[in-house]
Amino acid sequence: MSGSGVPAGSEPSGGVRRGAGVPGPMLADLTWHEVRDAAARGAGVVVPVGATEQHGPHLPLSTDAVLASELARAVAARLDLLVAPPIAYGYRSRPLSGGGEGFPGTVSLSARTLMSLAEDVLVALAASGFRRLALLNWHFENSNFVYEAAWLAHERRRDDGTRIMVVEAAFSELSPEVMSALFGSEFPGWDVEHAAVLETSLMLHLAPELVRFDRAVDDAAARHPSYDMVPPPADFVPESGVLWKATRASAAKGAAAWPEIVARVSAAMSTELELGEASPRG
Ligand SMILES: [Zn+2]
Repeated sequence: MSGSGVPAGSEPSGGVRRGAGVPGPMLADLTWHEVRDAAARGAGVVVPVGATEQHGPHLPLSTDAVLASELARAVAARLDLLVAPPIAYGYRSRPLSGGGEGFPGTVSLSARTLMSLAEDVLVALAASGFRRLALLNWHFENSNFVYEAAWLAHERRRDDGTRIMVVEAAFSELSPEVMSALFGSEFPGWDVEHAAVLETSLMLHLAPELVRFDRAVDDAAARHPSYDMVPPPADFVPESGVLWKATRASAAKGAAAWPEIVARVSAAMSTELELGEASPRG
């Protein structure tokens, strides 16, 4: 462990940051009267889903939770949505897409626990009166499990009109222009874009105080086959925890990609959940 710790001036987060980005409405900062009224007017609730997972020597463990939360807040600044406290732990990090479980600080859940957690949160939000819900995931390994949580929650709330949107990979659909700005002609695939160009660029854009960019490295596992192995062979894991070329990241690349990610997720949530515009509130 280095002596520097978290840079001065940054706020402890676990994925909940204040004062950065845009001020989305945080459900847990409201009173129950305000929440009751929001549900009554048809507001939605978005639950950011991230991880507590190593992201190389240059990004914090909270990267996926921070990016999911920042995205939720940015979308909630446009639409009538509240941002629920994030699920800041994710499913097991896999060596070929997240570096694996062997890094200090990576704290993961079993699939059962993650699904139960997300399902219970959704059911409780529906019981609070909300009928337009969304899980907004940033951690690759949570895919499918968040969908299953939504399915199980729907079964428990059957026929009460609750709709649940599941965004499993908010970053995976970008225009050719943004892809070119990020990667040039050398896109490695999203599975190895862990702690590399996109995530580092977005963190430099949104939360630069949490990035130690002078420690960024380019790295890759010695082997990256199309299958997986349990237990993971050591040569599936890059020593740094970076799965591609983090040094190619920049704040400018993050600034190029972020508005498009926000716009696409906002448009999709507006359409699928039939949400109104953000209402003016304090
Ligand atoms: Zn990540």
